[in-house]
Amino acid sequence: MIGPGSTIGILGGGQLGRMLILAGRALGYRFVVFEPKGPCAAGMVADREVNAEYSDEAALTRFAESVDIITLEFENIPAEVIDTLSAIKPVMPGKQALHICQHRQREKDFLKSSGLPCVPFEYADSAESLKAAVTAIGFPCVIKTAAFGYDGKGQIKLNAEHESEDCDYLWDFLGKPPRVVVEKWIHHIGEFSVVCARKADGSKSTLPMAENVHVDHILHASIVPARVTGATRRAGEALACKIADLLDVVGLIAVELFLDESGQLIVNEMAPRPHNSGHYTIEGCFTSQFEQHIRAVTDLPFGSTELHGPTVMINLLGDVWEKGEPDWSALLNDPRCKLHLYDKGEARPGRKMGHFTVMGDEIEETLKRANRHFSELF
Ligand code: ADP
Ligand code: MG
Repeated sequence: MIGPGSTIGILGGGQLGRMLILAGRALGYRFVVFEPKGPCAAGMVADREVNAEYSDEAALTRFAESVDIITLEFENIPAEVIDTLSAIKPVMPGKQALHICQHRQREKDFLKSSGLPCVPFEYADSAESLKAAVTAIGFPCVIKTAAFGYDGKGQIKLNAEHESEDCDYLWDFLGKPPRVVVEKWIHHIGEFSVVCARKADGSKSTLPMAENVHVDHILHASIVPARVTGATRRAGEALACKIADLLDVVGLIAVELFLDESGQLIVNEMAPRPHNSGHYTIEGCFTSQFEQHIRAVTDLPFGSTELHGPTVMINLLGDVWEKGEPDWSALLNDPRCKLHLYDKGEARPGRKMGHFTVMGDEIEETLKRANRHFSELF
């Protein structure tokens, strides 16, 4: 067990790291953040922030030597970095989970070979093979770069055949990536996610399934409890647990799901770290995803993930700052609403700047109140 008072190193300096640290601090842990460019949102609440490139081996070594264990809040960490670090200190969730989840082709291959439900897909590595892949999948479909995509970046949706006519142009537009995945666009009736925490001994704890609303491929809102049957909720939790076991995760894994018209859950993608759709757990659950992650990697017992009641989380993207600092008074005057700001500086459109969480006694009323607060910001 890595007891309170120990130091946890975090790779990545965004808001996920920031909220991990705020949860871990309450348990008495210390934190060092590794992030190429500073000052960063996580570094501001850490004991120390290291600003160096992932290619700087000396800096990585000094970072590893200054902490007891290492975890991450960002999955695009090169495999060599994990090798360098894990020779010095334990790195969680570990190389396998990271390697698979950071690349859409490996992720899809893993799902398919494990017999888990996933969307029909093809790969391409040239304009020519893109044309063939799009033809094979049909319309509508979505092209996604295999690596470094997030919040809908590196994605193009094609609605009809004429949109795919110029695959040379599409290929250039994507920046001639080494590889893309072409997926069938699923006419889902909803999107959901389950965050599962797992310890080295294989014990697991899932957080309540969230129902997620996306706008322009970016998460807008999470609604909990998800408005689905108990059987669907249990099926989602079982999928997340199975994936956590297969990938031998230590820490968190978030599993994003589509629910299709026949009532079947399909795995969209996975992230081996805290997830935006789990932010609601800070107020909504007895133990948050962030605290559960700290407990998993330090081998403390899990806390209860019991839901306090209907909870809605809404993201605050940079777009909300279009006319300057928003007026938070309606949010702050609601005694059952909590505002989180990440202190990230410049509010660019699409950039995740904060979120707010609304609690209530009944889910539809809670959702209405959350939507009203959101619309009042513009
Ligand atoms: P990211 O890494 O950006 O989260 P995702 O693959 O999860 O990438 O895509 C973002 C969002 O775009 C999804 O949550 C969903 O709303 C939509 N989307 C992506 N792929 C599909 C698909 N095959 N069918 C339907 N919707 C999709
Ligand atoms: Mg996603």
